[in-house]
Amino acid sequence: MPSPPLAGGTAGPDALRPLLAVVLDALHEGAVARGGPFPVGGPDAVAARVREAAEPVLPDTGTGAEDALRTLVRTLAHGAADPANPLCAAHLHTSPLALAVAADLAASALNPSMDSWDQAPAASELEAVVSRTLAAEVYPERDDPDALVTTGGTESNQLGLLLARERHGAVQVVCAAGAHHSVHRAAWLLDLPEPVTVPTSSGVLDLAALDTALRDLPGPLLVVATAGTTDTGRIDPLPEIADLCRRHGAELHIDASYGGPLLFSDEHRGKLAGLERAQSVALDLHKLGWQPIAAGLLAVPDRAHLSPLRFTADYLNAEDDTKAGLPDLLGRSLRTTRRPDIVKIAVTLRALGRTGLGELVDHTCAAAQQLADLVDEHPRLELYERPTLATVLFRPAGATDEQTADIRRTLLADGRAVLGRARGGGRLWLKATLLNPHATPGDLAALIQEVLIELVEGGTPR
Ligand SMILES: *Cc1c(COP(=O)(O)O)cnc(C)c1O
Repeated sequence: MPSPPLAGGTAGPDALRPLLAVVLDALHEGAVARGGPFPVGGPDAVAARVREAAEPVLPDTGTGAEDALRTLVRTLAHGAADPANPLCAAHLHTSPLALAVAADLAASALNPSMDSWDQAPAASELEAVVSRTLAAEVYPERDDPDALVTTGGTESNQLGLLLARERHGAVQVVCAAGAHHSVHRAAWLLDLPEPVTVPTSSGVLDLAALDTALRDLPGPLLVVATAGTTDTGRIDPLPEIADLCRRHGAELHIDASYGGPLLFSDEHRGKLAGLERAQSVALDLHKLGWQPIAAGLLAVPDRAHLSPLRFTADYLNAEDDTKAGLPDLLGRSLRTTRRPDIVKIAVTLRALGRTGLGELVDHTCAAAQQLADLVDEHPRLELYERPTLATVLFRPAGATDEQTADIRRTLLADGRAVLGRARGGGRLWLKATLLNPHATPGDLAALIQEVLIELVEGGTPR
């Protein structure tokens, strides 16, 4: 077999072109074979198809690029959950924009590693300017805001807690009962006290309870508020929380992993008022933002806040190199080798502009309102609450939690629709997270129809 060509250099694009054609055909064939939002048959059927395609995993003699790409990509696509289909709406899991995927190809082909300037001379500068621009969206009034590129909200929350700990010592985290689980894991990882959770009787962090907690707990204190909870999309009352933090001398980290991109929307930006008062803000562009995974950010109001992450490794950022003017990248992450996730973000921001991104955000939020209307008007469905972002919780009126859970699993097994689940008010709800910016009213009606068919065919009492 001839030695496999490399992706870089002047010859790389020509080597890639025929392989990409194979990949694109296989993606198409797999999507046709799947024929819907999700593979049919449940875990056993999917696993059997994958095992058949994947074996032998490591043959003595390779099967060649074309066979390997066609077989495995087709199988993956056939067995994929496809959020480009509006009936796939369980999680904060989006189909990426085609232009962002094309940009990601360039990132893969060039393969800059973001841990030293001599591996990423242009990509590191692109990361610097784009990160600063995005940080200025969060902190428009600050002189020198900055943002780190992360793998997502989990890493951003960890870094937010770490930076607070480096400023103040072992901070006591105080968060709402509905805060993301990664906040608890970050506290555990950083050896901080177990976070104190404040009730959310009205669906968001309860201000009176927060006031009491901040008064009674020993400091240093770090409040973690959420702008867009994973389960309901609710936004904690950020300005009031920031006021309480100031009054009690607590720091504030805001987990805007879900809601952060509302910043791009004239219509919805106001919901994030108070964001700029946090010492750090997590936001994800692989949710609202339509990027391929991963595309996370941690924004801080002042670049100096990032100094605890500085570290010197002689082979990456020797002091004399830095003094001679080579940019020092190691302090921009806890990771070493790091993908240039900024490339697809930069291309998306430039291609769509603020208006284009804002329109996508507006469309998804409007779709959630439309779905809520459809649920509300239907006598056999119950709506949990009016949506804040793009999440709608609903359930069949009169169904038990077991019946509700069964409907979700049946729709999954049949590959007909992908809905999530969430608890609220002590009951189980079906969750639709409508990140697909192309979903039409007809699609939303079809999503509901799948649940209604189950009510009849699954024998759930009317
Ligand atoms: C998704 C999410 C996270 C975790 O982000 P990842 O990108 O999955 O690491 C954290 N907080 C909230 C509110 C989220 O929605």
